[in-house]
Amino acid sequence: MNCLICGDAFQPVPTWGKLFLYEKESSTCNRCFSKFTKSDTTIDFSDFQGTHYEGAVDAVTALYSYNEAMKSYLHQYKFLQDVALAQVFAKTLHETFEGKEGIVVPIPMHPEKLVQRTFAQVDELLNSAGIPFQHLLTKTATSEQGKKTRKERLEASPLFEVRASVEAKNYILYDDIYTTGATIHHAAKLLKDVGATRVEAITLIKG
Ligand SMILES: [Zn+2]
Repeated sequence: MNCLICGDAFQPVPTWGKLFLYEKESSTCNRCFSKFTKSDTTIDFSDFQGTHYEGAVDAVTALYSYNEAMKSYLHQYKFLQDVALAQVFAKTLHETFEGKEGIVVPIPMHPEKLVQRTFAQVDELLNSAGIPFQHLLTKTATSEQGKKTRKERLEASPLFEVRASVEAKNYILYDDIYTTGATIHHAAKLLKDVGATRVEAITLIKG
């Protein structure tokens, strides 16, 4: 098969897991995939203590660091809209979510942005990994989060609305990148406010 990133032909390594189909086939060659740096970092969000968002998030895990390879991947995936690239992290995501218990909730895009970007990048990563999820949130704020400071983001009016019923259960927020943590904290607070028992977050990248 051909590597999704460099296009070169490569030979996926056969394993018993693949034979029995519970293991996802890799879609990139080793040379390309090894350029991503796995971090598996538990993120310290103690900077939210003493704010309105204290206690909203129970844990955050980021799987990869933001390096050159990741930067060019994101550019290709998000801005050049190469939907096939959702496969690159399918195996890692599948393995990460397999051991988790909870309802997976992707961080949504604003509907206007979805039109611009043509597909929901966050959802597609989960789809490619075969992870079931529920859309419980709608993005309501239109302003560009990227241009705001952390303080401005935290003080901004709610970024989301809850669009379906939330039960006293565990929820797992999923987003592509954790930067200031404002997005995750806004979303988690909303879920907790309407009854979620525990909210953890997993992001592909630590920004
Ligand atoms: Zn390659």
